Amino acid sequence: MNFELNEEQTLLKEMMQSFTQNEIIPAARTLEEKHEFPKELIRKLADLGILGMTIPMEYQGNKTDYLSLMITLEEIGRGLPSLAVILSVHCSLFCYAINHYGSEELKHKYLPRAAQGEILGAFSLTEPGAGSDVTRLQTQAVRKGDSYILNGTKAWVSNGTEAGAFVIFAMTELDSGKKKMSAFVVDKDTAGFRVSKIEEKMGLHASLTAEVVLEDCRVPATALLGEEGKGTSIALHCLDCSRIGIAAQSVGLAQRALDEAVKYAQQREAFGQSVADFQAIQFMLADIATWTEASRLLTYRAACTYDQEQAFSRQSAMAKLYASEAANKIAYLALQIHGGYGYSKEFVIEQLYRDARVLSIYEGTSEIQRIVIARSLLKE
Ligand SMILES: Cc1cc2nc3c(=O)[nH]c(=O)nc-3n(C[C@H](O)[C@H](O)[C@H](O)COP(=O)(O)OP(=O)(O)OC[C@H]3O[C@@H](n4cnc5c(N)ncnc54)[C@H](O)[C@@H]3O)c2cc1C
Repeated sequence: MNFELNEEQTLLKEMMQSFTQNEIIPAARTLEEKHEFPKELIRKLADLGILGMTIPMEYQGNKTDYLSLMITLEEIGRGLPSLAVILSVHCSLFCYAINHYGSEELKHKYLPRAAQGEILGAFSLTEPGAGSDVTRLQTQAVRKGDSYILNGTKAWVSNGTEAGAFVIFAMTELDSGKKKMSAFVVDKDTAGFRVSKIEEKMGLHASLTAEVVLEDCRVPATALLGEEGKGTSIALHCLDCSRIGIAAQSVGLAQRALDEAVKYAQQREAFGQSVADFQAIQFMLADIATWTEASRLLTYRAACTYDQEQAFSRQSAMAKLYASEAANKIAYLALQIHGGYGYSKEFVIEQLYRDARVLSIYEGTSEIQRIVIARSLLKE
């Protein structure tokens, strides 16, 4: 078993480490404080080819193996978790879905612009009354001639205020009595489409999350992604893939918490010595470092399993479950090591603690990951 990154992956990791250090970390605090979408950083990442990492060259992308994308999201997550989720949704959900399921027309229409950063993508499955249980979706898409008319409300749309186009899931085949989900690509300037609210969140303040309303929103039948009625399998396949990205985001956040905890423990003194000299603090650091490394290994393994074209659903769920839960425990302990200053906005650990909380919720809660893992075990 080889635990080494290859030469290209190593160079990419070094490039992203330096981008995070020199570009992201200096800007992060202000972006979070002002709830400001990191447009300038996204433009620079587009110039580096990062926005096209799931898009083939024929559509002006820069498609890499999936592990390379995970290394990238991990490094970005170390600097600004908000930016990691923005990119994860764009690359692993929006672009990925169109590349895998889109017609040539849809691919040519969206992928080159998405690769160049001219448009950002969103992926909108959740509704106010339907999160884990997607069979409860209320949004409808009714076929009228060569169009579909969409009506409904979509909730918790990451990139919702900034995206140029959205992959939107809606129920079709209502007339026949059969309720089946389908997926559509909808432009933000389509008549009947509007952003109705920006969520006020506990963390990830630089990643804007919106509610979107569709009122007699007419899209051409060619906006259908894949076949009509196949939306559930499209959504589940895309989420299987993209939740490895949330695991990578968790690893990046955990690594930053570890780095900050080590630095603080060595600087802070109590009872005439550095707090790093207390065994209680050393044990916390040891646990944080071990959980971070275990999360990284599970994440990289899930990505490699995908790259080797093997069944990866269980690995993906395990990586997401473990890394997101570990990131929460890690942020808790790293804040504890900071003592009272950990509770102050002066130190980044306060932000990491809040940002970690959502990792075990979005793209499938920890309970849903356990269901995926258990089902795959019992099926064997
Ligand atoms: C910041 C943020 C960004 C998001 N971005 C997006 C996005 O871009 N696109 C998108 O489509 N969605 C997005 N979401 C939505 C997210 O994916 C959902 O919140 C998540 O899937 C959970 O759904 P829910 O909130 O409806 O919880 P519910 O499904 O109502 O779950 C409530 C509780 O019940 C548990 N539960 C539910 N079913 C079961 C079961 N069968 N067994 C055991 N326990 C169960 C859950 O684990 C949870 O603890 C985002 C959410 C947040 C907070």
